[in-house]
Amino acid sequence: MHSSIEKLRKFFRLEHENGYTNTAVIGGLANVLNLWEGEARNDKLPEEIVQATSASLRAYADLDPARRLESLKVLWKQILEKVPEAGLKKQVPVKPVQRPPRLQPVPAEVEPSSVPEPEAPPAVSVAPEVPVVQGMEEKSASTPAQEQAQASQLPSNIVTPEPGPVSSQASSATPRSPRPVQGRAETRPGGVTSKRPIALNASLTVLAGVGPRHASMLTRLGLNTLGDMLYNFPHRYEDYSQLKPIRDVFYSQQVTVIGEVTMVNSRPLRGGKMTITEAVINDGTAGLRLTWFNQPWLTNTLKVGEAISVSGKVEQYLGRLVMNSPDWEPVEVENLHTNRIVPIYSLTANVTQKWLRKLMFQVVTYWAPKLTDHLPETIRQAANLPELGNALLQAHFPDSDARLQAARQRLAFDEIFFLQTGVLRQRRDWQSVPGRIFEVEEAWLEARLAALPFVLTNTQKKAVADIRADLRSGKPMNRLLQGDVGSGKTVVAALAAAMVNQSGAQAAIMAPTSILADQHFHTFQNVLTGENGALKPEQIRLLVGDTSSSEKEEIRTGLAAGEIKIVIGTHALIEDPVTFADLQYVVVDEQHRFGVEQRAALRSKGTNPHLLVMTATPIPRSLALTLYGDLDLSIMDELPPGRQTIPTHILTPQERERGYALVRSQIAGGFQAFIIYPLVEESEKSDLLAATQEHDQLQKEVFPDLKLGLLHGRMKPGEKDAVMLAFREKQYDILVSTTVVEVGVDVPNATVMLIEGANHFGLAQLHQLRGRVGRSEAQSYCLLIPDHEDAAENERLKAMAETNDGFILAERDLQQRGPGEFLGTRQAGYATSLKMASLSDIQLIEKARTQAQALFARDPELKDPENSLLAEALGRFWGGGKGDVS
Ligand code: ADP
Ligand code: MG
Repeated sequence: MHSSIEKLRKFFRLEHENGYTNTAVIGGLANVLNLWEGEARNDKLPEEIVQATSASLRAYADLDPARRLESLKVLWKQILEKVPEAGLKKQVPVKPVQRPPRLQPVPAEVEPSSVPEPEAPPAVSVAPEVPVVQGMEEKSASTPAQEQAQASQLPSNIVTPEPGPVSSQASSATPRSPRPVQGRAETRPGGVTSKRPIALNASLTVLAGVGPRHASMLTRLGLNTLGDMLYNFPHRYEDYSQLKPIRDVFYSQQVTVIGEVTMVNSRPLRGGKMTITEAVINDGTAGLRLTWFNQPWLTNTLKVGEAISVSGKVEQYLGRLVMNSPDWEPVEVENLHTNRIVPIYSLTANVTQKWLRKLMFQVVTYWAPKLTDHLPETIRQAANLPELGNALLQAHFPDSDARLQAARQRLAFDEIFFLQTGVLRQRRDWQSVPGRIFEVEEAWLEARLAALPFVLTNTQKKAVADIRADLRSGKPMNRLLQGDVGSGKTVVAALAAAMVNQSGAQAAIMAPTSILADQHFHTFQNVLTGENGALKPEQIRLLVGDTSSSEKEEIRTGLAAGEIKIVIGTHALIEDPVTFADLQYVVVDEQHRFGVEQRAALRSKGTNPHLLVMTATPIPRSLALTLYGDLDLSIMDELPPGRQTIPTHILTPQERERGYALVRSQIAGGFQAFIIYPLVEESEKSDLLAATQEHDQLQKEVFPDLKLGLLHGRMKPGEKDAVMLAFREKQYDILVSTTVVEVGVDVPNATVMLIEGANHFGLAQLHQLRGRVGRSEAQSYCLLIPDHEDAAENERLKAMAETNDGFILAERDLQQRGPGEFLGTRQAGYATSLKMASLSDIQLIEKARTQAQALFARDPELKDPENSLLAEALGRFWGGGKGDVS
């Protein structure tokens, strides 16, 4: 027998005799470790056992006697598993068992299938004999029932930590086993930080009862390490404190009730084509009938005498209350008495809720209290947040709803805080390189403004001034120009281009569609060339996908030579081998339509060029500052003068003719109209079909006397442009289109926007579409026609009818469907790493932002020792991925 194991046995026995008072060793059990670790390694004990022992004994002093008992039990059990001969009392010469420490979770596929699950360890000779521990009742702060439940469920077979990252506090000079690979592939919101090397990246097979087979099942849930487990939050909770007695439920109510199954059977229906399964549950107050169709196996899974919880709508059948196809799950009776709020986790094949919950309970109750909070005390106090370990515990196994909410707040705070801190860092990186200085004289600017066909609005002037200041700051501009549809962003971008061109440098403008690029091309020509123009017409060029290859060649040559000053295009700009003589200003329009890489690709064609990104997607300011904290923000919340609000009406399909009447009358008045159809499916083919069929039918049957144009996604860019141009030149009265028309298109003479299948569109999209009209001083209208009458009650449509204000709609949209879809590519990336935080929780965002800014002002590099754990956690949150602005 190993002498190191023998020592432990001796100390543990003494502890037991002393009532777990940490007196077996002078100064406490942890004091043996310096010597013991060396001895254990001499004995060639598995490194994971050395680490586990070290972790347990260092934590030992902080525990109450009951927990001490548990922790020694747990430790001993691990030892028995890894060093089975430790269970033998007699000293038998055995070859030391050494298993290589597992450093990385092994994917199921490469795991030899013949590996047996660990056998149940031999009986422990130490802990089980331990009598009831003293003082538990007096110390207990929680309810006796809870305490009892905890004691009975406490892991009896928990964790052997494997060598984890050695944290700075680990003082042992003894050589350790190789460190796990640093820098995990996936990012983890709210990093987990260890006070001691508690091996949160240990693979799950270190949990007793979790063999390779179980581990591979957990892998399918994305759970590879202990840290993954701690952050594997329940997707919902079952609150057994809110239950209703069956006697009190009534017709049409949506409820959850619990009862014991008293009857279950299945029988065929409709000549054997279907089966119906019926069950009755009873909770002592009354019975409730449940029915399911075509789930005959339920007769085997629902067992008479077992308690289940069912959720669903109460309906009536032959005068009796029933629930049809309710959600159900078995209830463990102890849940009713102990954890009244019970977590429900996401499952996968062969993983049962009961098994996973139990495992989670073991992991969370054992590990969460051992974590050191990465948030410095100062921040935690200032933001009034619970401590991390406690928050994790409560997020999984809440004592009450209030504590659960506080826990969720804390974990959500971490996410936003990390997000914000990272964004601030990006901004600093961006500003650390120099930007070329462009100064323009007041007189020059006056002349440019005088040449415009209109007077700039105040917010346009402000945006121009912001940009002018950026251009002479010596740092690269990095600005988001956010303005509602029709607020006039293009002219602002063009004036800025002129400032840069003035000293000979070049500009590139990228738009998501060729229609838009073409439109910008015309705007830039109008604004910048002409009689006293800043540029000659041939110095501004358009480069889109179907620009002829000879013209492309010519543009490439002109750009490389520096003769062309402004190029406007689509992603053709980055796909083409275009080079610039001196690119100093880059504009990305409708930036949410581009990926981070595309923006970076365009920018990299110059050296630290000034960057302006534009979007019509209005988002609440605080949210913008969080998501785009690396960008300066100019908001244009004012429309050019004379613009009228666009009355918006919801028509049922039966009322469609009224819509057509309005279209006719507007056209009679010399105006034009859009009629939009949704993509029926996400395929271009059906897009084509929908729009062409509708176009033909409208032309023949509804508007035979009018000229109808057709625009859809299947057309080549050149064809689209031709149609748009023809529409703008009034060759068509009505443009029938799919959503290709959505972004940015500017045809001021169009005054009706009629949207079919309006219930299929998102709020932001509807708002964008509506923004295609109301672009002159003439009164415009928007008509929304859902597919079916019921959809007229659709919340989005009602919101559209209520307001024209993009900011209000954005708030609504955020509330209704969360930020993911709404915000586009870049944000979707962030949103997936936000498990707890909701970007619509503006208060939380403000709070996290304030704290992040204060921290950044105090210690931007996070060099203060107080912030070292935070720096680690931040690194984990952002992973190795390099961020990009905009
Ligand atoms: P968006 O901000 O949606 O990109 P645009 O730049 O396409 O808007 O401008 C919308 C329309 O408003 C264009 O026809 C443009 O010429 C016009 N416009 C822009 N600024 C003004 C202004 N200050 N006064 C009047 N019309 C303007
Ligand atoms: Mg625009």
